[in-house]
Amino acid sequence: MPGRKILSTGAGKCNLSNTNITAGHYHGGTPSFAARVLKALPPGKVLDFFGELGLLLSAEPNGRIFPRSMKASDVVNVLVNRLKEKGAEMRLLTCAQSVKKKLSGFEITVRQVPPKWDKKAAPGPLRTLTADAVILAAGGPAYPQIGGSALGLDLARALGHAVKNPRPVMTPLKIKEKTVRELDGIRLEAVLSVYAGGRLMGSERGELLFTDYGVSGPPALSLCRAAVAALETSTVTCRIDLFPDHSRETLFSLLAKRRDAGPKRPWRNFLCGLAEERTVNLLSSALKIEPAAPAGSVKDPLLAGFAGLLKDWRLEVAGSLGFEDAMAAAGGVDTAEIRPETFESKLAGKLFITGELLDIDGDCGGYNLHFAWISGLLAGTAAAKQKGLRC
Ligand SMILES: Cc1cc2nc3c(=O)[nH]c(=O)nc-3n(C[C@H](O)[C@H](O)[C@H](O)COP(=O)(O)OP(=O)(O)OC[C@H]3O[C@@H](n4cnc5c(N)ncnc54)[C@H](O)[C@@H]3O)c2cc1C
Repeated sequence: MPGRKILSTGAGKCNLSNTNITAGHYHGGTPSFAARVLKALPPGKVLDFFGELGLLLSAEPNGRIFPRSMKASDVVNVLVNRLKEKGAEMRLLTCAQSVKKKLSGFEITVRQVPPKWDKKAAPGPLRTLTADAVILAAGGPAYPQIGGSALGLDLARALGHAVKNPRPVMTPLKIKEKTVRELDGIRLEAVLSVYAGGRLMGSERGELLFTDYGVSGPPALSLCRAAVAALETSTVTCRIDLFPDHSRETLFSLLAKRRDAGPKRPWRNFLCGLAEERTVNLLSSALKIEPAAPAGSVKDPLLAGFAGLLKDWRLEVAGSLGFEDAMAAAGGVDTAEIRPETFESKLAGKLFITGELLDIDGDCGGYNLHFAWISGLLAGTAAAKQKGLRC
């Protein structure tokens, strides 16, 4: 189906852009590339494009932009409707096997592939297409379950392009301490900070999700790049602040007040309404506090230690999950070989390479989709202009 990956973005809501699109949110081998792209097509123009397609947008206070309906399917629908209006032909389940530059134009071999659900269907025969221009928009190897593939990188290599080693980014973090499994499924607002050898590598506030292997959610996905890079040379620690709006002192006073108001209440119920019971139990066991003990038996030094854990809970990072769970791939076609104003290849005229295929990836928060749109718009417009078409 068209736009399969878009349907899964932003947990089905499609975080399609951000109010703060700047070059600093992009990473890749050629640092000036993103700045030149954003100069060629400022972020507002991409939002105007969606406005023209009829999509109403809404920005969250943290800058993330979604369709107002919060439905990724609306994003796909407005794009597909425009393709139909323009008379574009879509060939679904069609895999490009090779792209060759000819004296005039390109020759592309394609094969019809069976849908994943039809185990008995055989692939179709190879067919040859010709084209005046080609836009290679095959994405990267992240999330193969929904179409991610390294085939596009092979096509680019065969056309003479240098490809930087693809790496999974924006993946959840694996944690060494197996006890975090007990928190599987818990989501909470927290600040996650990553330290390598005692040095702060990055810090982000947002919804943290505990899983049976570690931590996920926007802060973990964002900090995974720094954590994984640092792991090559040192031990990496995740420090979690579960009460970012309280200082350690105010949190201790709050806990002490509660304890003194109900010293006979069992400790396990003590934080009811302040923190999730499974979290309380796990942190308490680290301090050897008995869940059934009366809250009053937890004296000030131990209570201060508990407040300290809630504010600065330290876990060791074991690594990240691979491409199967990565939202994007870093690495890809060397951007030094691509014109940032049009995304045309410097090696082969009328060949355009866009999106995640390129050695550029954005932070978590709508930056990757924004880059896919911007590169698609610039490449599509340039390809059409070369053919003398108006767009
Ligand atoms: C689960 C998930 C959630 C995400 N959420 C967000 C989000 O909320 N915001 C955000 O900004 N980014 C998000 N991303 C990242 C974002 O989706 C990608 O960066 C973006 O889709 C890349 O666009 P693209 O057009 O370059 O490639 P893709 O969207 O990957 O599209 C490439 C398409 O080409 C097809 N293809 C590959 N090889 C061939 C071939 N040889 N022949 C024919 N077709 C081929 C692929 O199957 C695929 O359908 C998310 C990614 C994932 C996996």
